[in-house]
Amino acid sequence: MFRSGFVSIVGAGPGDPELITVRGLKRLQQADVVAYDRLVHPDLLDEAPLYAERINVGKAPGRQPYSQEAINALLIGEARCRRRVVRLKGGDPFVFGRGGEECQALAAAGIPFEVVPGVTSAIAAPAYAGIPVTQRQVARSFTVVTGHTAGHAAADLDWGALARLDTLVFLMGVGNLPEISRQLLAHGRPPATPAAVVRCGATDLQEVVQGTLATISDAAAHVRPPATIVIGPVVDLRREIAWFEPDAAAPAGFPAPMTTPLPAGLFAGVEVATL
Ligand code: SAH
Repeated sequence: MFRSGFVSIVGAGPGDPELITVRGLKRLQQADVVAYDRLVHPDLLDEAPLYAERINVGKAPGRQPYSQEAINALLIGEARCRRRVVRLKGGDPFVFGRGGEECQALAAAGIPFEVVPGVTSAIAAPAYAGIPVTQRQVARSFTVVTGHTAGHAAADLDWGALARLDTLVFLMGVGNLPEISRQLLAHGRPPATPAAVVRCGATDLQEVVQGTLATISDAAAHVRPPATIVIGPVVDLRREIAWFEPDAAAPAGFPAPMTTPLPAGLFAGVEVATL
């Protein structure tokens, strides 16, 4: 399969490194190059062969993150050198992961590639907080929205439509939570609508803040990314079915410490995922 260079765009899943798919893990174990971003659990990088080059293309202390153009060029260049390239991304590569843009660049350059879907935090972070995104008689749909542009007039969302939907899941939204709640309330969503914020879902650092649309932005004011916001009546099911107990005493694997040193001399100067 890999006679010429080949790129696998792989979803790493959220938080817990065991949430990668079987195929994603196989590709990682056969990689010559792994280009990973900041929400990838550092333990996953240990799955690549010792000789594999590991390149952190996400945000890292002391340098600019790679631009999307630079990442595309890197993938194309490595594949043209006949390498098996794994582009490892947190969650699912096509959910706010720019995986589609990378596929476009690879297709345009004539590089063979595949997509290995991942478990998205949009579903898994609520699941680890005991919140099913759908439930018979409670929510017949769920909508995943970027919270990144909330309040930016040019790229703003159709709040009237969002306010009428069942379950809303916002990624990249914690910084804009006050604006998100304000808009939904202004567009008619009742203030008593249950709401929760799940930080570092599926890890031992998981923190869940629960409230209502009226209270959640104050209650979760201290929460820093990465966090997923869930709004809708399904949030109340948590009282019955919350099941995951983070182990507060476990060593923190995610988000990774600012820089995790690798075995001396092995990959000198290479950094492991940073938040
Ligand atoms: N492709 C990813 C999402 C990338 S956008 C996916 O499918 O999961 C990054 C956002 O994902 C973060 O700002 C946060 O909203 C969410 N996120 C990622 N990992 C998370 C985690 N472990 N717990 C909660 N939210 C997470």
